[in-house]
Amino acid sequence: MYTALKFSLLMLSLFLYGISFAGEDIPLNKIDIQVDLEGHKITGTSRISLPSKHTANVALSGLKVIAASINDRPLVIGPGITMITFRPETADEVLMIEYEAEFRASVGTYNSKNPGVVEGNLINPDGVVLIDKWYPAIDGLSLFSLTAILPREFEAVSEAEEILIRDKTGTDREFSFVFPHPVRNISLIAGRYLILKDTFNETEIFAYFLPEDKGLAKTYIEYAGKYLNMYEKLLGRYPFKRFSIVENILPTGYAMPTFTLLGRDVVRLPFIVETSLGHEILHQWFGCLVYIDYESGNWSEGLTTYLADHMYRELKGTGWDYRKQALISFQSYVRPENEFPLKSFTGRTGRVSAAIGYNKSAMVFHMLKNQVGEETFYRSLGLFIKKNKFRSASWSDIRDAFESVSGEDLGWFFSQWLEGKGMPKIGLRKLEMKYTGSKASVRFELFQGAETYKLSIPLLLRFRDGWMRRNFVIDEESTVVEIETEELPVELVIDDSYDLFRRLSDKEFPPVISRLLGDKKKIFVIPRGKAGEYAPLADYFKKEGFMDKKEEEIKYDDIKSSSFVVPDAETGWVKRLFGEIESQEGDFRVTVKNNPLNSRGVIAVLDSVSTDDMTGYVRRIPHYGRYSFIAFRNGKNIMKSVDGSDRGIRLKTGKEVLGIEIPRVLSIFDIIKKVSGRQIIYIGESHTRFEHHRTQIEVIRELYKSNKNIAIGMEMFQKPFQQALDDYIAGRTNEKVFLKKTEYFKHWGFDYNLYREILLFARANKIPVIALNISKKIVSKVARAGIDALTEEELQEVPEEIDLSNMEYRKRLKKIFKMHGNSSDRNFDFFYEAQVLWDESMAHNLDEFIRKNPERQVIVIAGAGHITFGSGIPARAFRLNNIEYSIILNDGAVERDIADFILFPSAVNAPESPELMVVLSEEEEGKVKIVGFARDSVSQTAGLKIDDVVLSLDDTKIRSVDDIRIFLLDQRKGDEITVKVSRRRFLFGSAVMEFKVTL
Ligand SMILES: [Zn+2]
Repeated sequence: MYTALKFSLLMLSLFLYGISFAGEDIPLNKIDIQVDLEGHKITGTSRISLPSKHTANVALSGLKVIAASINDRPLVIGPGITMITFRPETADEVLMIEYEAEFRASVGTYNSKNPGVVEGNLINPDGVVLIDKWYPAIDGLSLFSLTAILPREFEAVSEAEEILIRDKTGTDREFSFVFPHPVRNISLIAGRYLILKDTFNETEIFAYFLPEDKGLAKTYIEYAGKYLNMYEKLLGRYPFKRFSIVENILPTGYAMPTFTLLGRDVVRLPFIVETSLGHEILHQWFGCLVYIDYESGNWSEGLTTYLADHMYRELKGTGWDYRKQALISFQSYVRPENEFPLKSFTGRTGRVSAAIGYNKSAMVFHMLKNQVGEETFYRSLGLFIKKNKFRSASWSDIRDAFESVSGEDLGWFFSQWLEGKGMPKIGLRKLEMKYTGSKASVRFELFQGAETYKLSIPLLLRFRDGWMRRNFVIDEESTVVEIETEELPVELVIDDSYDLFRRLSDKEFPPVISRLLGDKKKIFVIPRGKAGEYAPLADYFKKEGFMDKKEEEIKYDDIKSSSFVVPDAETGWVKRLFGEIESQEGDFRVTVKNNPLNSRGVIAVLDSVSTDDMTGYVRRIPHYGRYSFIAFRNGKNIMKSVDGSDRGIRLKTGKEVLGIEIPRVLSIFDIIKKVSGRQIIYIGESHTRFEHHRTQIEVIRELYKSNKNIAIGMEMFQKPFQQALDDYIAGRTNEKVFLKKTEYFKHWGFDYNLYREILLFARANKIPVIALNISKKIVSKVARAGIDALTEEELQEVPEEIDLSNMEYRKRLKKIFKMHGNSSDRNFDFFYEAQVLWDESMAHNLDEFIRKNPERQVIVIAGAGHITFGSGIPARAFRLNNIEYSIILNDGAVERDIADFILFPSAVNAPESPELMVVLSEEEEGKVKIVGFARDSVSQTAGLKIDDVVLSLDDTKIRSVDDIRIFLLDQRKGDEITVKVSRRRFLFGSAVMEFKVTL
């Protein structure tokens, strides 16, 4: 802002007064203030002198100028003027500004997206925090001389090598701060501190703690000594005479030259001495000794994070995990539309800038260290510090230091990581392995996305015994690599130590809270009918960037594209994705799971004893960004964990060859004995293989011998027909009625002879048979259009809980799906939903029976696909009832975990019912018409014709095709039967005719 003053100053002549510092001319700002705690204000003077031929803008915003002069010639500065230009005329001109400033506004609100940073100043009877614009300031570096008059009971700190105190009046003392180095800003912190002091290697370490926290001071000083020792070894002598740890009444985490200012809530956290304290101490070198040239980007946070927070983990052997966490954060929060290059980072303003300026930047220093080697890395930093102390340094000063020590041209490195955006995406493909005489060779292609980077890729080859590591430099889209080895590897792993800034593979990316917070599309699910109850929570999440959606309005496309928060584990919608969420301890819990339909999205389920508690707890969720599960009790975190994820990009080179031990082959009866203690026994089948059904009845008969209390669950019947099954087993109906009423031929259709023995045995012994299946039309509808497509009525038939999270099962089903020539992902999602819905229905129907009949042992008969590996029915039923089970399969490949036992029965021919060898149609209600004949048809030979309507077979009236099937069940080949038909004759109407057919 310009004023009349500017013009008056312009007319002054050019005899300039300069101050010299280390050969450079530096402005001087001498500030003397008096603090009035009750009035929340300071009054003071600032005397500014400039070096020769300099002009400076003096910022006055927030200050009330009382008087101003240049060498006692008064200047008039009107109210509301926030900047003046000082252009001294003579060498010894001093601009004097007498001013006052009030800082009573409340400051220091905590921001969960940017903790540790507070704007504004504070003066009150508890303390003084002056950091921002509290004196007339000029741009760039100045030398400062500060005195402050404060009440006797106050201690004060500022940027100072030395602090001199003298009595002023009976109630006040004057503090003079000596800091003989140019610096951009100074601050003044004062409070009712107790001071503890120690000396370390000629450096005085002070702790300024509030009386209630004085017990912490000793620990802080000890740790400060350790950190100074560590960094002096790495970077050279600590640059100042004193260092202070100052407790702040505001929630800050700052480093100023000669001290660190830590919020009181922060210093009380037990882990701060192990993390943040060291970080702030390291800033004494990076930021407080070597200043940051913000114009060209802030390099200091990444470097400090790397050599502090990261290094402490590296020293404990978990540096790789720290780096992986850094990548998870980056990948969670940074998206193409909010990303900026590292060189544009100036300071942390939220999660995105932190992910770039701290996480990515630390990874860049890690790669730089690996590029030049550890020794060169620290020698380069030493040179960088030496050349740039007390001046503003930029990324290019870092590059200069590294190039001059290493002798390498590092232009490509700095431009790749400072100017570029995005992350390299690396993979391995076209693997070929072969034996070459006494050795082996492994050949493959390393590839990256179309955006190419120059990268040194660490590769681990794992052998059955031992391992081997190699690095490959790639700078093209794909690079072929060939390695000679002693034997063939069992696994290849890329970058298992997270040495590269790169995109994580899906398997390395666990479901964590930060992914939820960072997703672009996030939905807060309002549980059905509970909009009122959850309104305060919905409001909170809306402010966090979530969209509201009612449970019943969430569609397939939402799930496919978003992340979710569901505030109630009992929500039907959650149960349709994950089944039951396991209940845990605590009164508030957050469980984050991968979204089964969206590989980049997550679903967080909140679970709380009361809705009121939740509003307080949810605010704390952002602190736990790296976790998949957190639990609280009485406001305290009691549990936190991260779901397992792969370490490195892993490629298994082949399935291990498995074999079985022949002496362990058992007879079916040995096997039955072994499973007889289990309450549920699954026996898988291929539907048309009669020998499979034979083994089923063997198992049933044998178990029945020792336990009369058994039941049989069958996939072959649908739940709506349970009553018809019960009536048949109880002897209230005959087989004919039973088959008609269960619509067996319509819904299942396989030759009834395959299952007849089992049902006859059940009926003879009154063994309950459970209709496990669901209507086929629901399964087909879901496979076509997803669960969304089901009507309210159809939804009644399907279970509320559906667990879609078994990714191995999904993978196996995908293979089957692809074999059937379907390729669209959308179709596969529906196919998968349908398959799981089907399994879940059967598991629920089984569970329902067991709940009502807890004493019954159940033998479940179903297609092998619903049983192998337990992923179809067995594990789902187990989720519902925790009852141990055994799986017996008929035939099939021996694979680990596929079943408990596999039977290998020899082929057996099923009793075959003879056929009429006609094609039938039920065009009209109750009329079965012949519409075609099979080749060499016995019926055609007997004289039957097309369009004949079949009236009866022997004495059995025929009103449906089922009637014919049921009649034929009990006939044998070679039997002669009488077929009565009605035949339409031209002009003469219909006639009833009889034929003898030899089957
Ligand atoms: Zn920092």
